[in-house]
Amino acid sequence: MTDPFIAHIRNALANPGLQAALDSNAERRLSALQQACVSLPEDLQVMRDRAHAVRAEVISNLDSYLTQFIKNASDNDLIVHQASNSDQAVQIVLEISKQHSAKLIAKSKSMVSEEIHLNQALEKAGLQVIETDLGEFIIQLRGEPPSHIITPAVHLRRGDVAEIFQEKLGLPYTEDISALTAAARNVLRETFLKADVGISGVNFGIAENGMLCLVTNEGNGRMVSTLPQVHIALMGIERILPTLDDLALMLYLLPRSATGQKLTVYTSLIQGPRREGEIDGSQERHLILVDNGRRRIRSSPLAESLHCIRCGACLNACPVFREIGGHAYVGVGGQITAYPGPIGSVVSPGLFGGADFGQLARASSLCGACKEACPVDIDLPKLLLRVRAGLIEGDEPFGANNGAEQVYPSAPGHVPGGLRLGLSLYAWIAASPWRFTAAQRLAGVVSRMFSPYSSWMRLPSFTGWGYSRDIPRPSTMTFRRWFSKEMQALEIAEPSELPLIPVSTAPSPSSPAPPPISPLPSRLLIERFETELITLGGTFKLCLENHIPQLILELLQEQGVSAIQAWEDAELPAGLLATLRAAGIHVSHKPVPSIQVGLTGALAGVAETGTLVLPSGAGRPQTASLLPEVHIAVLKTEDIYETLLEVLELRELHQASAVDLISGPSRTADIEMTLTIGVHGPREVHVFCVE
Ligand code: SF4
Repeated sequence: MTDPFIAHIRNALANPGLQAALDSNAERRLSALQQACVSLPEDLQVMRDRAHAVRAEVISNLDSYLTQFIKNASDNDLIVHQASNSDQAVQIVLEISKQHSAKLIAKSKSMVSEEIHLNQALEKAGLQVIETDLGEFIIQLRGEPPSHIITPAVHLRRGDVAEIFQEKLGLPYTEDISALTAAARNVLRETFLKADVGISGVNFGIAENGMLCLVTNEGNGRMVSTLPQVHIALMGIERILPTLDDLALMLYLLPRSATGQKLTVYTSLIQGPRREGEIDGSQERHLILVDNGRRRIRSSPLAESLHCIRCGACLNACPVFREIGGHAYVGVGGQITAYPGPIGSVVSPGLFGGADFGQLARASSLCGACKEACPVDIDLPKLLLRVRAGLIEGDEPFGANNGAEQVYPSAPGHVPGGLRLGLSLYAWIAASPWRFTAAQRLAGVVSRMFSPYSSWMRLPSFTGWGYSRDIPRPSTMTFRRWFSKEMQALEIAEPSELPLIPVSTAPSPSSPAPPPISPLPSRLLIERFETELITLGGTFKLCLENHIPQLILELLQEQGVSAIQAWEDAELPAGLLATLRAAGIHVSHKPVPSIQVGLTGALAGVAETGTLVLPSGAGRPQTASLLPEVHIAVLKTEDIYETLLEVLELRELHQASAVDLISGPSRTADIEMTLTIGVHGPREVHVFCVE
């Protein structure tokens, strides 16, 4: 019988649609990442070193950070639960749902929930669970697991989505991606409004104040953590950061590495449930801290894998993942792992057992592209080699191998004969400089003979197959010749012309923070905010305070709007709501699903990302910037700050039960990587900036 791993790989390789989808995803993601890194405030490697040091510090002292985090989260009125394995985590969710007689659960994307097979368990218990991330919604309809940790439906083409929407939702067949997204928006809007419980993941938990950070682009994370009365957040115990400064660092790296954005559209900072006087936000918030094998990994040679912040960049960079996709990463019994790609090939055996998933580490060329792409500089090739060598401590609880010695395909003593012969030949050649040079020359001649660009010989069986795939063209000179030429050029150059090689050190989290960047003059700050917001698809108008009511009224009239949801008078410029009411606009502070425009103030703006900062509070409903199709915000010029770090230090931000950082209109690229605006949150964001 064929090994299921091999069978899945063969199926994937025989699927040209999958290859095209994976290539397109990887190319777009990687080029967006390169572009986004240009705007980093410091050298990328310096930031990666710092991020690595922060994560290493947390994992080394996990128990003390967890204790601090749990205490602060509990002080914030989060109800904290701890689950040592998947069964316990599922049981806690079931009990909370039962306490609230829940029937419908709206869920945003959470890899921990995939890992513990939460949906299946909840459905078995008679609950209806609906995934609300567009990609997750599509694969849920198809009955499939995600094939990528960031873009779950990356393996599908628009026709596949059209077919499943036609079959399961009864929609007329269309391949128009905007129409497909709008259809999903309509269906899922009902779910958000009716759900008894919302379940989300957590990107980071902050030890110093017990805050949860969630990032989403579509707005579904905000919806499930705001609209249902009960919110349950699932978090792996390793996802802790010591301080808000560390969060700022990760928020520079995570969105850039995941989707090539400077900041994800919605960054939600949640401290606790709705407070007295607030008219929206979940009234009860539970946090489930899931171990499920993480402590075991921490004491194993794979501990560094716990530094992962789940950005997905290593999947995009991996030449093997780009050929086979996430559904090919299966255990010995054919079960698809929740975590594919290079990081998945390390954490899957670590979490679920080497006996079942140790084979995944074979799906790597060890080229190092994953390490290079990783924003926290995890040495993935080293970890993959450890898995291959069977260095996975703590397999015992799984009991899957019945005590038999674990055998890995490349473990010493199991080297295939052909490979052994090839390595011996290579060792003999490499032992002599003359033999090595001669072999290089011979290889160059042979590869050029086989080249489809060769003018003097073209072999029929080598007519360009490799050039349409991933095999690079042979170099016209040997490495040795290239190196000598480069060295000669360097010797000729004057010292001042020599390229500067950046020296990066890896400071510990306790090392001094980088020197503050001199602040931009306020005019430049405003211009930068405007440029970034417009790039994101928002609009910006600088105006005098007494012009605001008329300008907003004109915008509402242009939109043909007669009712809005708004913050209360005291939270907006004086006389604004009175002017609108006098002009016949109905103003509601409570959420009304049919209202098309929301009007809010803003605590601050972040110039480097064009981000609005909106704290919850009495008179400041969160839904005004979430439910309507259009969001209008009033921001004062003196509240624009240059960096995210400055904003995270604002006192008001620490006092609110929840804070939303909003960077432009809601967006998705879940279908064929095509950018579509307005999935769940507003499709328009207009900022009136008061001088
Ligand atoms: S290992 Fe690194 S690149 Fe891969 S998902 Fe984790 S953080 Fe991202």
